[in-house]
Amino acid sequence: MHKPIIKPALIAHGGAGRRVPVSERAERQRALVAAVEGGSAILREGGSAADAVSRTVVALEDHGLFNAGFGSVLTLDGRVEMDAALMVAELSSTLNANVNIRKKTATRVRAGGVVLVGRVRNPILLSRVVMDRTPHVLMAGRAAERLAREAGLRMCRPEQLVTDRARNRWLATLQAPGKVSRQHGTVGAVAVDQAGNVAAATSTGGVSGKMAGRIGDSALIGAGLFAAANGAASATGTGEAIMKSCLCREAVALLTGVGAQRAAVRAINVLYASTGAEAGLIMIDSRARFGYAHNAEAMEIALFAHPGEIRHLVLDPIAVGASQP
Ligand code: ASP
Repeated sequence: MHKPIIKPALIAHGGAGRRVPVSERAERQRALVAAVEGGSAILREGGSAADAVSRTVVALEDHGLFNAGFGSVLTLDGRVEMDAALMVAELSSTLNANVNIRKKTATRVRAGGVVLVGRVRNPILLSRVVMDRTPHVLMAGRAAERLAREAGLRMCRPEQLVTDRARNRWLATLQAPGKVSRQHGTVGAVAVDQAGNVAAATSTGGVSGKMAGRIGDSALIGAGLFAAANGAASATGTGEAIMKSCLCREAVALLTGVGAQRAAVRAINVLYASTGAEAGLIMIDSRARFGYAHNAEAMEIALFAHPGEIRHLVLDPIAVGASQP
């Protein structure tokens, strides 16, 4: 049986949080659109959702205006500790043992992630190595960095990931001890490819003002990302709240009852009801329909739906606590 041919689609976010300074808006928009262009080129050529979200996130990790890879925020003691992960749900044809000849379509999920890394240029590519080349899902710190070296990934000294912008923000954080603030700029992408496979990827430097060793939601399956047969999601926002409400798993589970947009709004409302925190979410269902919502000040996204142009949107927050759609 042939796999279904789906019109591919991809959506990416550049974090949710306070409004971006006017001086950075145009460049952030350009970078987000360029990143989605790179990912969508893979999808147009028949490539996989996993490759498309990886390429999109790599482009954003390499851009200093986003809080992921180069440009990550710093811990209280001035270090870079990044988290990232990738998850895919792939359709595969399997032999039905009962009738011996008939093939049926099954979904296989795979995932890989890393936490507390500071010596690898692109944590999302290391997540991919964990997924593709190890029996594990999540690896941390020095051992994960060793794996990156062995896999031939681009390594760096931690200080090479620090931008002037991140250093200045860290210095400002030190003036207000105890205050954990979320700098806009965690990145994520979700996609569906022509074969109907879905993928989600999320990468972050975390929250500024965080203690050394703090791990957020971004690399945790079900919290900062999730992919299943029916769709995929990537989150941004207060990691502690996203973890407690398993935001992305919640959003994808809601897809069975409502459409992607309603699922996104409901999931943010569920998070807010139990934590009072701010978060944002992008999602896609296996038929390439988008959902996105946040309750922070601002969130920007870029979308590609075959064969259309890439669109960039700055999203208004949803009215949390209002009656749900
Ligand atoms: N969710 C990220 C974390 O808690 C931060 C963010 O998305 O702004 O590490």
